[in-house]
Amino acid sequence: MLGLMQDQPLLISSLIDFAQRHHADAEIVSRRVEGDIHRSNYGLIAQRARQVANALDALGLQAGERVATLAWNGYRHLEAYFGVSGSGRVLHTLNPRLHPDQIVWIANHAEDQVLCFDMTFLPIVKAIHSRCSTIQHYVAFCDADKLPADSGIPNLQSYETLVRAQPAHYKWPALDENAASSMCYTSGTTGHPKGVVYSHRSTVLHAFACAMPDVLNVSARDSVLPVVPMFHVNAWGLPYACAMTGAKMVFPGPAMDGKSIYELIEAEQVSFAAGVPTVWQMLLSHMGQGALRFSSLKRTVIGGSACPPAMLAAFNDVYGVEVLHAWGMTEMSPLGTVCTLKNKHLALDESEKMQVRVKQGRGMFGVDMKIVDEDGAELPWDGKAFGDLLVRGPWVLSAYFKNEGGTPLVDGWFVTGDVATIDPDGYLQITDRTKDVIKSGGEWISSIDVENIGMAHPAVAMAACIGMKHPKWDERPVLVAVKKPGAEVSRDELLAFFEGKTAKWQIPDDVIFVDAIPLGGTGKMQKTKLRDMLANYQLPAH
Ligand code: AMP
Repeated sequence: MLGLMQDQPLLISSLIDFAQRHHADAEIVSRRVEGDIHRSNYGLIAQRARQVANALDALGLQAGERVATLAWNGYRHLEAYFGVSGSGRVLHTLNPRLHPDQIVWIANHAEDQVLCFDMTFLPIVKAIHSRCSTIQHYVAFCDADKLPADSGIPNLQSYETLVRAQPAHYKWPALDENAASSMCYTSGTTGHPKGVVYSHRSTVLHAFACAMPDVLNVSARDSVLPVVPMFHVNAWGLPYACAMTGAKMVFPGPAMDGKSIYELIEAEQVSFAAGVPTVWQMLLSHMGQGALRFSSLKRTVIGGSACPPAMLAAFNDVYGVEVLHAWGMTEMSPLGTVCTLKNKHLALDESEKMQVRVKQGRGMFGVDMKIVDEDGAELPWDGKAFGDLLVRGPWVLSAYFKNEGGTPLVDGWFVTGDVATIDPDGYLQITDRTKDVIKSGGEWISSIDVENIGMAHPAVAMAACIGMKHPKWDERPVLVAVKKPGAEVSRDELLAFFEGKTAKWQIPDDVIFVDAIPLGGTGKMQKTKLRDMLANYQLPAH
């Protein structure tokens, strides 16, 4: 017997329809490339998203064809999010921080037809357009008078001219909820980047999960600042979750420095912000220099790489901001786990609570996870056993675009490439990426644990731990550290700082100070580049 409920597909267009009907006046505030602050709302965004859809019809774009963006977080990008996917085309967010050759490779692989871009990225577009073989139309996110006269870019037009010429009426198509809605390529630290293709169904289900109280707890009372880019995993799904709940959205545009972010948080009374640790590092350092306080910020979700406990403590103890430590992947839309406390933790003292908060959190409904040993046997959830982390669920990928790299699944589970423990309460702790874990004398050392201790030193701004070949122990950890501006610490002082904080054999053999640690396009430390930089390095003799 079948249920007798209506068979309504889960579609991205229904999110913006809902926001327009129920939260038309909820604000969408953007710092623009033009430098000013722009104010819009869901009513206007919905109207312009329909104009985008009409414009794509006028350009002759078929359902399923790809519309790429090379853009910051802002209202025009948001209009494209809903207009492109809502009308049945696939929004392909390109990462402008990648090397131009990689952008060309990705755009050609995805067979993008249209490229919409912020004027900041005009130099990139000028450099790549002749090699992007499938792109027919270039659309600059600007007014007609800002268009360069002699760019040499074929079929270049202004977004404002294109969109304003279109009627505001558009009937969203009744798509199959499993149709592709958007795509994003993985950072591709090894081999070519691989395309992850989200569907309307996976996106809407992920948005429901995202808004849940024990996940990101997004509501109509929030003012949400996604510092995480809309060009990487859809800003962690926030544009969809905010439309679903009617939350105000605040977009930072190109200005990600501590001062600009702080001013935006205060001016727009942001209650919830999302970002990677490297961005929050800049904000905290700005706050510290000016002895500033937050008047509205209540919580922040931090993920993308491990949130150092020192950062968690600074937000929590100094500024009274709750940190939600989260783990996820491009392949998971991206949310996998978020760290929120359970009832049983509320009676704990602050330092005990902190021991829970530093973990990457517990799974939400919709994400099934397990850890396995090298033979694939499931390991216990005892907080000690660590193994390869496998996940499955309706917003976890089943295959990469064009089946690149073969199947990423084992018995229906996606192999994340992360190594983790899971405790009896279901809290996941990421030990490492499989390829970053340090094997020393038959034991494993978590590079994240070592980095967290290093970064707790008051003179250290950033630290990366990598394994170096050792004749006896196989590998030994070395800490590469960046000092805070004006701060001093010697190699021996930093090594002494580890005493008593971890097992002796897990203390690094050496510290190397550098001016900067190379960061990838999504703000993660690039350990492969560090290893190349240290190719001639010799461990100190013991
Ligand atoms: P990406 O697909 O670029 O978002 O990268 C996903 C990878 O980032 C994961 O597989 C993890 O290795 C890493 N990652 C994401 N969040 C965290 C976190 N909170 N702690 C440690 N690693 C993380």
